[in-house]
Amino acid sequence: MNSTTPTTAAPLLSDLHALSTAKLQSFWHSIYTTYTPTQIEFFGSQAVQYTFFLLPAFFYTLLDLLFPAFSARHKIQGAKRQPTGREIVKAAKGSLGNMGIVTALLAGKFWWEQQGGGGGRTMFRIEEELPTVREVLGGFMFAAAVREVTFYYLHRAFHHPRLYPHIHKLHHTFPVPTAFAAEYCTLTEHAFANVLPVILGHIILHSHIVSAWVYIAHEVFHAVADHSGYDFFKLPHPTKWHDAHHERFRVSYGVYGVLDWVHGTHKVRDKKKKAL
Ligand SMILES: [Zn+2]
Ligand SMILES: [Zn+2]
Repeated sequence: MNSTTPTTAAPLLSDLHALSTAKLQSFWHSIYTTYTPTQIEFFGSQAVQYTFFLLPAFFYTLLDLLFPAFSARHKIQGAKRQPTGREIVKAAKGSLGNMGIVTALLAGKFWWEQQGGGGGRTMFRIEEELPTVREVLGGFMFAAAVREVTFYYLHRAFHHPRLYPHIHKLHHTFPVPTAFAAEYCTLTEHAFANVLPVILGHIILHSHIVSAWVYIAHEVFHAVADHSGYDFFKLPHPTKWHDAHHERFRVSYGVYGVLDWVHGTHKVRDKKKKAL
């Protein structure tokens, strides 16, 4: 190899990075100057949520339907236990119904803002410059820590016998999960376990909205992949982590596994007690 390669490749990579950053900044600038902050927050957040739910959900479901032999090889739980087509439609209706209700509520808030309510304030920071990579990564880690704590304890509380039948049992309709069942649950669970823990960290930080969108996109995809039933590799841990919660109930309550290791719920301790 030519000894000059590293010195010529470095400026090329740096030029490519500068070019892509400039293009992203220019694209963001055109959005920023065309729409109001409340329009960017409402329409942008809905686009992120539905895109990162629907694309992977259809992808995994089409794998089930179009490639059954491939699907059987890669499903975590046995092929005979997989949900039927009718059950997948039920899951999709439930998930999209919950997402639709949240969208309708936010649309009401948006309409109120368009009438002058709220004084133009937004949950996230919307400014002309894109966030730095450092801000995006820092926000991601803080939001992940907030989500792990809120989701773990809320989820464990939902497994309490007094709460389980009213709030969480519906989500466990699928002991063998399917991608569209990611948001299949009661509206209470959807609001407090799916929506709030995902946005809370970035609301606390009053993050740049693009930084919040990066995290929301990752978490929505993460939820769909975790319910796909496939053994495909996924960070920060394999999909079998949450799949095991659906199969065995008393294990893997958290999102990232940190608090499960702290509380010893990363493995099943009492195999006889599968309910709750
Ligand atoms: Zn559960
Ligand atoms: Zn689940």
